[in-house]
Amino acid sequence: MLKKSVTLVLLATAVAWAAPAALGQDAKTVLSNVSKAMGADNLKTLQYSGTATEFAFGQAVNPSSPWPGFAETSYARTINYETPAWRVDRVLAAIPPTRRGGGLPPVPTQSVVIGANTSWGQQVDLWMTPYGFLRAAANNNATATSKSMNGKKYTVLTFTAPNKAKFNGYIDEQNMLSRVETWIDTPMLGDTLVEATYNGYKDFGGVKFPTAILQKQGGYPTLDLTVTDVKPNAPANIQGNPAGAPQTPPATSQKLADGVYLILPAYAALAVDFKDYIVVVEGPQSEERANAIITEAKRVIPNKPIKYVVNTHGHFDHSGGLRTFVAEGATIITHQGNKAYFEKIFALPHALNPNHQATAKKKILIETMADKKVLTDGNHVIELHRLQSSNHNDGLIVAYLPKEKILVEADAFNPPAQADAPPPNPPTANNTNLVENIDRLKLDVETIIPIHYPADSRKVTIAELNRAVGKKD
Ligand SMILES: [Zn+2]
Repeated sequence: MLKKSVTLVLLATAVAWAAPAALGQDAKTVLSNVSKAMGADNLKTLQYSGTATEFAFGQAVNPSSPWPGFAETSYARTINYETPAWRVDRVLAAIPPTRRGGGLPPVPTQSVVIGANTSWGQQVDLWMTPYGFLRAAANNNATATSKSMNGKKYTVLTFTAPNKAKFNGYIDEQNMLSRVETWIDTPMLGDTLVEATYNGYKDFGGVKFPTAILQKQGGYPTLDLTVTDVKPNAPANIQGNPAGAPQTPPATSQKLADGVYLILPAYAALAVDFKDYIVVVEGPQSEERANAIITEAKRVIPNKPIKYVVNTHGHFDHSGGLRTFVAEGATIITHQGNKAYFEKIFALPHALNPNHQATAKKKILIETMADKKVLTDGNHVIELHRLQSSNHNDGLIVAYLPKEKILVEADAFNPPAQADAPPPNPPTANNTNLVENIDRLKLDVETIIPIHYPADSRKVTIAELNRAVGKKD
C-alpha cells in the first residue's frame, strides 16, 4: 500500500511537470502562487541594501578581461513600484591606484523616475528586479512553460518587452524567482543578453528576498550584490523629473589648421583632409553620433570618401560608432589587440535595432598597429602612438600631428569643466602616464584635443595638462 502511494505521488509529480509543456501552463496561477510564496501581494515599495561591486560595461582593460569593478561599502536601492521610480544610494570604497580599465565611478545618489519618454534602457533594470519582474509579467500577459537547466526544473514565465525582445523569468520548485533574462540593444554588441540571478532567498518581515544578486551584461558581471537588509514598504518618495531618452546633438566644427577640423560637441572627433580621402580620428558612442561626425566631416571636406577611422581604444563609448564607419566603407585603424575581438562582435546580430551596417553588410576592414603607425599623403602627417603602461586600456592610441603640434587623446586626460579648476591632488595615474609618454616620445605638443572635450569648447593646451600633474612647462 505504502509502495503504491509513493508510485502515485511520483507519477503525479511527473505529470505536473510534463503537462505544462504540452498544454501551456496557466501563467496566472503560476504568478499568483509565486507572488504568495514571495510575499509580493501587498508590496508597493521596497528597500534593499548591502555591499556591492558595480562593474563598468564595455570598459575592460583589454578584450579578454571582464568589465572592471568599483567596490562599494554600502549599496541601498529604494524602489517605488507604483510610481514607478527608483533610487540607489552608494558609498564607494577607495579606488585602488592599481585599478585597470575605464568607466566612471558610480555616482553617490542616482534617481530615476519613469515617465512616458523614459528609454527602455533606463527601465529594464527595474523590470529585472524580483518584484519588478512579477509585476511586469502580470501586466504583459506572460505565458508559462517548463524548462530544465543544470539538472533543476523551472517554470519559465515569458513575455515580450517593449523593445520586442523576450523577457524570461525562471521560477524554481520553491516558487522563488531564480533568474531573469532579456536582450537589449547596445551599439557594440547588438542584441545584448542582460541577466540576473537571485540566490539565497531569506525572509525579511514577510517578504522573501535573495541575499545574493548577480547581474551580467554581455557575459560579464555588472552588479554583484550581497544583500544584508530588506525593508518591505519602506518610505519611497523618490523625487526627480521623469528620465527622458538621451539626445544626440548635431555636430559643429572648428578649423584648427589647414585641412584639420575639430568636430564637436563631445565626443569629439578630428577630420583631416588628405589628398584623396578623409581620415577621421574616433568613431564614438553610437550610430547617431557617428552619422553626425560623418556628415560634418564630409561637409567641411567635400567630395572625398572617408578612407580611415582611427580608433583610440576599444572601450564601447569610443568604439560604438565604428560599425557605421564600416558601413560607410572606411577601414578601422586600431591596436592589434582589438582585431579579432572587433571581427567577432561586429558579426553579432542587431535584430532589435538594425543599423546601417545590418543592411549594408560591408566587409569589415581593419588595419592594425603595435606601438607606432604613420599616415601621410606627403603633406599631412598623422603619427599614431600607443601609450605604454596605461592603466586605462592596453591598446590606448593617441594621434599626433607634428606640423600642427596637435595631440588627440582619449581618457588619458579628461579636462575639468573649467580650465582654472584646482588640479587633482594627487595627480591621476592616467594624466601622469600621458605626460610620461609625451616625454618618452619627445612629442612637441601645443594643443590637446581630448575626445571628452570640455563643454565650454575652449582651446586645451599642454599647459593645462602640465598643471594637472604639477609639472612646470
Ligand atoms: Zn576609455
